[in-house]
Amino acid sequence: EAAADEPDQWVKSVCRFCGTGCGVMVGIKNGKCVTVKGDPNNHNRGFLCLKGALMPPIVYSKERVTRPYIRRNGKLEPASWDEAMGLVEKKFKEALAEGGPTAIGYYGSGQALTEETYLASKIFKAGLGSNNVEGNPRLCMASAVGGYVTTFGKDEPCGSYSDIDAATCIMIIGSNMSECHPVLFKRVASRKQADPNVKIIVIDPRRTNTARIADEHVSFKPGTDLAILNSMAWVIINEELDSPRFHGKYVNFMTNDKKKVDFDAYMKFLEDYTPEKVEKISGVSAAQIRKIAKMFGEASATTSFWCMGLNQRIRGVWANNLVSNLHLLTGHIGKPGATPFSLTGQPNACGGVRDTGGLCHLLPAGRLIKKEAHRNALEKQWGIPKGTINPKPGLHTIALWNAFSEAKVKAMFVLCTNPAHSLPNVNIYTEGMKRKDNFMVLSEPFMDAESVKYCDVLLPAAFWCEKRGTYGCSERRYSLLKKSTEPLGECKPDFEILMDFAKRMGVDSRVIPYENIDDVWNEWRMVSAATPYNFSGMTRERMEKASGILWPCPTEDHPGTKIRYVRGEDPNIPKDYPKKYNFYGKPDGRAVIWFRPYKGAAEEPNEEYPMVLTTGRVIDHWHTGTMTMKVPELRRSFPAAYVEVNIEDAKAKGIQNGDNVLLETKRDKMVFRAKVSDVCRPGLIFVPWYDANLMINKLTLNAIDKGSKQPEFKICAVRISKA
Ligand code: SF4
Repeated sequence: EAAADEPDQWVKSVCRFCGTGCGVMVGIKNGKCVTVKGDPNNHNRGFLCLKGALMPPIVYSKERVTRPYIRRNGKLEPASWDEAMGLVEKKFKEALAEGGPTAIGYYGSGQALTEETYLASKIFKAGLGSNNVEGNPRLCMASAVGGYVTTFGKDEPCGSYSDIDAATCIMIIGSNMSECHPVLFKRVASRKQADPNVKIIVIDPRRTNTARIADEHVSFKPGTDLAILNSMAWVIINEELDSPRFHGKYVNFMTNDKKKVDFDAYMKFLEDYTPEKVEKISGVSAAQIRKIAKMFGEASATTSFWCMGLNQRIRGVWANNLVSNLHLLTGHIGKPGATPFSLTGQPNACGGVRDTGGLCHLLPAGRLIKKEAHRNALEKQWGIPKGTINPKPGLHTIALWNAFSEAKVKAMFVLCTNPAHSLPNVNIYTEGMKRKDNFMVLSEPFMDAESVKYCDVLLPAAFWCEKRGTYGCSERRYSLLKKSTEPLGECKPDFEILMDFAKRMGVDSRVIPYENIDDVWNEWRMVSAATPYNFSGMTRERMEKASGILWPCPTEDHPGTKIRYVRGEDPNIPKDYPKKYNFYGKPDGRAVIWFRPYKGAAEEPNEEYPMVLTTGRVIDHWHTGTMTMKVPELRRSFPAAYVEVNIEDAKAKGIQNGDNVLLETKRDKMVFRAKVSDVCRPGLIFVPWYDANLMINKLTLNAIDKGSKQPEFKICAVRISKA
């Protein structure tokens, strides 16, 4: 009987959830996906968390959208593909005729395939003249992009996951890695288990499961981590744990207003951040700040991980810079075990959106829309007339949705994401989506996704194992997802949907010269070739066999690059280059230590709203819950969102575990069940954001980082009372 249940076939693929990018083997029986196991040859060494392992019921959920729909008299009614796409064409053409290219927009996803994002971005930017191309990575990764680009000149991490195995100190800041990147966290925990001398520092105002393996858990007043990071730099220098040999040769010191200064000026800047001064700001003892700074500096190799806790902030780019500062100060970079490493929330935020230019200011391979030379080089490679690409960047996510809410952007193509749940201060955007004078087409696999309530046309998107393409995870590794089952009903891969849209819109055939999705990949390889990204060596044939390859990978026999910016490791640096390191994104090859001052949050607690609200994930749910809430085991473990309250705060307000409590911010109010524990520090409450019935984003804030335009989901002022 056991043999009867065995899959007929195992197909290599990648997990559909977090940015860890675990390799999976999809078990197929009678043409259906019946089980999933870990790929022993990928970086996850065969391990998966429950989300990844329990994928099959999601594929066959009764909520799958299996045919197109058109909204008529307020109700979604079945339609043919031709009717649905005909209406999309009509509405986009009307918007273009009325308002020009700025009246249309595309909102994509870090869950779309690399090729899909590349194609959508090209259709809009080169085919329709609109740079209003954005995606949900703006909500999660934009500050990391800004941080890497301002510090090193190029986006994406310098190291790889294998640094965990060589690190002697691991600092985790603004990341609940144990729940959000569980398989990677397992590797960190195994490292600690194998060598108890490895030091783990966790900097987080919540005492999460991640913090439970830490040698030092630093619980701080939310928002003050910028001061703590500067203070760590002060200690490192004053304890002579910095590496003048490294920073003297490979680093420039730069003030916040971009003036190049010397090391002494940096020392002077840091005088405001002595541990004693920062103790008063952050609530962290001076002794603990000294201790963690010494751990960081004294280790032979330190790796730092961070995620949304730093990125989803109005000073997100600065926070990213400050972590990299510590690495550049100590020389903990460019050697095994030493790297500043931003973790990604989605399976392909790095891949499709960041690398191939799926944001309003970007073009593929790190090129910028505002740079004429970048536009012209790309136009030449694409074989389209010079001047085709509009030189003005489009609207970033919050501006785009504001414009849609005001019906200034009249037609929006939303693909593989759920903005009616995931945008901050979401009520204003769902009100906008209800307007009759704008139009939203949504390509989505699930009928119960919140955004379905608001779309004008719903397209049945093929899901994960029903299509082919690549995902690029947090460590610059790209892996191929092979199609392993046929799409359900009338579902189509987004590649086909986008090609149909482009043809109907009359996009020049030179912009879309593709027979199939592999053609898009091969064009991306060509477009990246002369850049530091360089995917040339990643042929489809190689990707079929390999369990992922890390870029840059310039030739078909190149193994991929684990360490960037280092002569001998990085193919961008010639072997006879005179210096060991070259931060080639910067004109003089030197990275930057930035002077980033501590500044408060956009909305600090006050008398009326005296506490801080923060949001995040739980281990068994992912994003807006449209997938994980369909798995009975996962739904049972976290059936509904709740509010996590500290024991002291609960006592002061007479709140018991399990009580209904009312949360109120300036934007909205909502009742949650209380979970009283010591996880949050006093004054802080936490609510997970996966639950569509208790959508915490109705209460969050849409203030944004000036540089990255990423919203501050992590901090807003809130009032809590017994309901
Ligand atoms: Fe999937 Fe992330 Fe879990 Fe790996 S850790 S199985 S990528 S959800």
